[in-house]
Amino acid sequence: MSSQKLSASLKLIVITLATGASTLGMSLLLGTTKFDHLWGIQQPKSESTKASQHKAMIASAQAASLAINQMNQVPKKFQGTVIYEAKLKANEKVIALTFDDGPSPKNTAQILEILQKNNIKATFFMIGQMVKYFPQVAKQVAADGEVIGNHTWHHWYRHMDAPTAANEINRTADIIYQTTGVKTILFRPPGGFLNNGLAEYAKNQKYAVMMWSEESGDAQRRSPQVPGMVKNVLKSAKPGAIVLMHDGGGNRSRTVQALPQIIDGLKAQGYRFVTIPELLEIEAQEKNLVTAASPVVANHEYPNNQLNH
Ligand SMILES: [Zn+2]
Repeated sequence: MSSQKLSASLKLIVITLATGASTLGMSLLLGTTKFDHLWGIQQPKSESTKASQHKAMIASAQAASLAINQMNQVPKKFQGTVIYEAKLKANEKVIALTFDDGPSPKNTAQILEILQKNNIKATFFMIGQMVKYFPQVAKQVAADGEVIGNHTWHHWYRHMDAPTAANEINRTADIIYQTTGVKTILFRPPGGFLNNGLAEYAKNQKYAVMMWSEESGDAQRRSPQVPGMVKNVLKSAKPGAIVLMHDGGGNRSRTVQALPQIIDGLKAQGYRFVTIPELLEIEAQEKNLVTAASPVVANHEYPNNQLNH
């Protein structure tokens, strides 16, 4: 099974990165071509068996590391911007499920199990202090091949000065990396507040600031019952949508109950499920096709890019 292979690769990456094999890690980050080139120079022409085994191990770790880096990358044009949804063609039926405020000991594991059973991947925006309390759960999210984003350390809504905002985001990025080996480029502001200092810092740091285009309502003060949550998502589903749900921040057993029905309903509508980086990559590739066909569109893209800096 390819998903098992992927999962095994991801475990390897987590081990490689988390055990502090920094020299190897750095080499791996250089990318395939560069690394092979370096290796080619350093290796004698006739290799011993041990050397080739070592080389095979490095190649495998390299492939895994590249896989996780690719998994967590987003196209450059989205870095430093605020995104609510991907703008896709009407027949591109992909949708991204996102889960905020975890990792939490019970509900996150339940959600992972449902995702695995359905063979789909989602994106988890984690709170730094939750990663600190539940590192094994965070590790499991990464090992399952889910994508991880940054959701600050304290989940504060209030206005923050620049050093506080920086600390909220950097501290969280650090613990996610130390715990899971994931270097995330995705940020979601708590409560969706874009004007309290956090999003500004995240944009400056070239994070993709990820909002959402539809929500189950599972974290609202008067959150709907399970059928209401399912209906909320299914009625407004559209290609490129980003769905907000929660695996932490309280008892999310209703989210856990609603999720299989949400997945089934979306599948019945013809949707397949992608992570945020995959979603943005699909948009970028669609745009490239349009650009190739029409230079006029290409010209329109440059002013947008400039606005983002
Ligand atoms: Zn949140």
